[in-house]
Amino acid sequence: MTKRVYLETVGCQMNVLDSELIVSGLVQAGYEVVDSPRNADAILYNTCSVRQHAEDKIYSALGRLRPLKERRPETIIGVLGCMAQKDQNLIFRRAGHVDLVVGPGQIGRLPEILEQVAAQRFREPRLEVSLDRMKERRSLVEESFVKFDPPRPAELRASAFQAMVRIMFGCDKFCTYCIVPTVRGPEQSRPAAEVVAEARRLAADGCLEITLLGQTVNSYKDASEGRILRLSDLLVRLNEIDGLRRIKFVTNYPRHMSDDLLQAVRDLPKVSPYLHVPVQSGSNEQLKRMKRGYTVESYREMIERIRAIVPAAAVTSDFIVGFSGETEEDFRQSVELVRWARFKNSFIFKYSERPGTKAADALPDDVPDEVKRRRNNELLAVQNAISLEDNRPLVGQDIEVLVEGPSKSAQKRPPAGDEIVQLVGRSVTDHIVVFDGTRTLVGRILPVRIEKADAFTLYGRVGAGK
Ligand code: SAM
Ligand code: SF4
Repeated sequence: MTKRVYLETVGCQMNVLDSELIVSGLVQAGYEVVDSPRNADAILYNTCSVRQHAEDKIYSALGRLRPLKERRPETIIGVLGCMAQKDQNLIFRRAGHVDLVVGPGQIGRLPEILEQVAAQRFREPRLEVSLDRMKERRSLVEESFVKFDPPRPAELRASAFQAMVRIMFGCDKFCTYCIVPTVRGPEQSRPAAEVVAEARRLAADGCLEITLLGQTVNSYKDASEGRILRLSDLLVRLNEIDGLRRIKFVTNYPRHMSDDLLQAVRDLPKVSPYLHVPVQSGSNEQLKRMKRGYTVESYREMIERIRAIVPAAAVTSDFIVGFSGETEEDFRQSVELVRWARFKNSFIFKYSERPGTKAADALPDDVPDEVKRRRNNELLAVQNAISLEDNRPLVGQDIEVLVEGPSKSAQKRPPAGDEIVQLVGRSVTDHIVVFDGTRTLVGRILPVRIEKADAFTLYGRVGAGK
């Protein structure tokens, strides 16, 4: 019987959360999760399709498993998540030793599917995906993305005092470059009562910080109680939960950044003043080709509203460089927007054409890779200079930090009681703060006096101000 499972995850926070849920489901069904493929009965990859590079990594990892599969043909090899939904049978054709392809809308059935595959004498490739939203009725497609958000004990989460909570599934925006609406299905909001119950359980279990997840989290809309509950209404309810100290939410869509939401961020003490609102480009021509549904002017107006209503908010963004038709002038406008908006940080991606998107059908991938790379580096350099300028004035301030754990270098050393190690934590504005302390501080919220700052990290000392 297949009982030891190895699971590797690539991609966004939604995938990290899915993997946590998969592990919970498997452990509750009696499986053991192991940390090496070498002694696993099933080797699973939870995959990402947003950029080509993420898919290439998985296909190479699968290639490396071929000798193992020849030696131990009974080992089950499975591809889960977005790439499974996107490539489907193509995965079996490209990697004939894969047994199992399971889309993100089917992961809740994994224990049962694994059981069935293990019991087969002659294994057939097993494909479990949701319906194609281009071909079937919306209500059927929605149902075929099976909701799976089981309770998960602290020991099965990445952190005992932080947790992600899904509040929305899928996406309806269909930005021309993006594969997410195809692989994650139609936009659906979870009922507020269900989200609040999950947050309550997490808080009772010692969780201090929750991050609400959705592709366009600020378009949250729950009609299950006879009236429309928006994200701001949900935040009011979550803010009341005893034990919870911080509430964050990602990712925001610029057009839905309404005043009621900004007022909720301003007025609710537990809601962190941290807003990730990707703009993607500073050029109206590009925004139109991307079908983002707003102009640079309206995005700037939104930033001004944020600054007026929540002056202390840290705003972060995503950019795509080298999208179809991007001229040097278009790119300059992105640089200009980064300078003007003074984002806390920006994630910058080189455009990667995704088969199955509108851009792949109709808009040529015509910016050479070396130009994409140059623009990526240049935009990042401008952003980093701004991050550094804006971090420097924090030196001398006391910032409240949730201590997440030992830094990467400290993790390599064996834990020893009250030894002083380098710790890492985060502020409410999502700034990373590094300081020295004992491991007993992990999971606490405490003030740290900032003594040094670079573009990415603040360095400080606990208790320096007292
Ligand atoms: N829903 C979120 C939004 O609209 O901002 C983001 C979802 S996506 C997983 C995260 C980021 O990946 C996007 O903001 C975009 O910058 C980037 N991205 C999406 N498709 C891409 C593509 N085809 N090539 C390069 N970057 C891409
Ligand atoms: Fe993709 Fe656009 Fe939806 Fe974000 S809003 S997931 S970029 S389609």
